Amino acid sequence: MFSRRKLLHGSPRTTNNHFMFYDIIIIGGGASGLCTAIHSKTENNTVLVLDHNSIPGKKILSTGNGRCNLTNVNASVDLFDSNPEGLIPYMTSGDPLFYQEVISQFDCHDTINFFAENGLLCVDKNGYIYPRSEQASAVNELLRNRCEDLGVEIVVGHDVRSISKKKDSEFIVDSKYECSNLVLATGGLAGASTGNDGSGYKMARTFGHELVEPIPALCGIKCRDPFFRHLKGTRTDAKLIFKANGKNISVQGNLQFTDYGISGIPAFQISSIIGYMLAIGESPVITIDFIPEIALYELVNLLYRNYQLIPKSARFDDPVTRMLTGILNKNVISAIMRQFTIPAENDPDALCLALARAIKLFQVHPYELMPFENAQTTAGGIFTGDVDPLTMESRLVKGLFFTGEILDVNGICGGYNLQWAFSTAAICGKTLRSRQSFRL
Ligand SMILES: Cc1cc2nc3c(=O)[nH]c(=O)nc-3n(C[C@H](O)[C@H](O)[C@H](O)COP(=O)(O)OP(=O)(O)OC[C@H]3O[C@@H](n4cnc5c(N)ncnc54)[C@H](O)[C@@H]3O)c2cc1C
Repeated sequence: MFSRRKLLHGSPRTTNNHFMFYDIIIIGGGASGLCTAIHSKTENNTVLVLDHNSIPGKKILSTGNGRCNLTNVNASVDLFDSNPEGLIPYMTSGDPLFYQEVISQFDCHDTINFFAENGLLCVDKNGYIYPRSEQASAVNELLRNRCEDLGVEIVVGHDVRSISKKKDSEFIVDSKYECSNLVLATGGLAGASTGNDGSGYKMARTFGHELVEPIPALCGIKCRDPFFRHLKGTRTDAKLIFKANGKNISVQGNLQFTDYGISGIPAFQISSIIGYMLAIGESPVITIDFIPEIALYELVNLLYRNYQLIPKSARFDDPVTRMLTGILNKNVISAIMRQFTIPAENDPDALCLALARAIKLFQVHPYELMPFENAQTTAGGIFTGDVDPLTMESRLVKGLFFTGEILDVNGICGGYNLQWAFSTAAICGKTLRSRQSFRL
């Protein structure tokens, strides 16, 4: 367990008005806050991290199902452009140039090197990078230990409610602390149980920063079709296809059905795009291809072969279920049968074609996303146009910085969101470090 006493060390000076003064205060001790602290700490500056949770880096513990998918080999600008047509982008923001500028300064290779230099061995699993131990707790402990070794002070259980700035000089935090540089690393709204309540947005807005409406991302999608009750708990490999901005988008993976709609990685990947379409009043339709690895005409042939296997005398009973058994999950078959009407003409060719189309063009109708509590990240956030991607400093308020999920940038599943936290932290930390040495 963490002792509060152990976390509080170092010697900040006390100001005339009895506030404790630090060179740098970081609000939020998550992935980006702790890394900013590590990158910015020098022997000569004082750095304080404030977090309202009882332990720093609480969210890191639940990442990657407890294994922490730190980054992805595709999280580098060279590979961003090679994302094949039709697939969703690895990262999304109101301003793609902003995240490209950030990632170009600190990408997946820098993340792997940073962790290696700090003693963490990583492993590449099909491009997904994890700690070799496959334990998120190792990442959490490493970051906390490095902070402690370097003399970063961490105060837990402190819920920051107010920040202000004296004219052209120091920031005041909760009428208790004062600092020259303030970093907002408070995350977004996703994962309320790990300390995210959107309070950072309010703080940023007091300084005139605009907020791009936050919506849940990497979460399940509620659909209004009647068959989900029967599909609940079913998992199957499938491809999701839909149209956004006139462009066909598709994503493939292990789809999970729930009583409210669709979940699992492919649903997570498209959730923020679907969420924004719903927010602007569009009615997206998602087509599910239940056998994406087989082309339509091949599937017609396969179904026809299965049809021929049924004895002529049995073809009038329920040929469709027999044709599909052995090809699809039973629950999926019954959902397809609810949408499917057997063609009127007694023609096996027409039946096989109609059935193949039903399997490859199964439609669901989203109406809402699952709430922030169930989301892994936030789409939207602080408008990036007011933040300098070369420093992470506010263009509106000197000495105010932003890192991580609080900004209007979000990634798909696969390590892109932690990479974002690490990239922004490295740039911010480097800027703060150089400023401190300049002051000496
Ligand atoms: C279940 C789950 C699994 C995930 N798995 C992965 C994964 O495997 N790979 C990946 O890349 N991404 C993953 N993510 C996303 C990733 O964890 C986040 O994008 C990342 O942690 C964001 O880092 P951050 O530092 O910006 O914010 P956070 O980690 O959210 O940290 C913000 C911190 O600020 C503190 N705070 C907020 N407001 C205040 C306040 N007013 N006063 C004091 N403290 C405050 C919070 O307590 C919190 O500790 C996952 C997310 C979840 C929820």
